Amino acid sequence: MEKDIFCKIIDGEIPCHKIYEDDDVLAFLDISQVTKGHTLVVSKKHHENFLTTPQEEMHKVMDVAQKIGQVSVKLLGANGVNILTNCYPASGQTVMHFHVHVIPRYEGSEGFILEMKNNSEGLNLPAIAKKIKEQL
Ligand code: 5GP
Repeated sequence: MEKDIFCKIIDGEIPCHKIYEDDDVLAFLDISQVTKGHTLVVSKKHHENFLTTPQEEMHKVMDVAQKIGQVSVKLLGANGVNILTNCYPASGQTVMHFHVHVIPRYEGSEGFILEMKNNSEGLNLPAIAKKIKEQL
């Protein structure tokens, strides 16, 4: 099976601007900087996305994402941070290897708009909540 792009980066076959590495996690700048400091935190073992990653590995990736978010606010002058992970193409996932985006946000700057529209009209919220709750 053809390696995905992040497996190639992890194996050193493709260069990256690395900012963190340990036995389980690698973090590097996204090649396409949505904002200054936009970072990808990836699990070294191949898993398709957040939903399919074993909990322990997922926690390690999230720990690193949190630290990088904290540093972005402290050292890059960001006023906020978006922590984002896409699961499956319908959500916008383009690289099928679990990764978390850390996107520093700067007041007044453009480049990234996360618009959460209210589409609740016509939805049966009690029924939806019941369905999800029953399986947890
Ligand atoms: P997704 O859309 O899957 O959540 O995000 C994939 C991200 O990987 C994109 O933001 C894209 O810019 C980034 N990306 C794709 N190829 C490369 C690459 O070769 N190097 C780096 N550093 N980032 C990449």
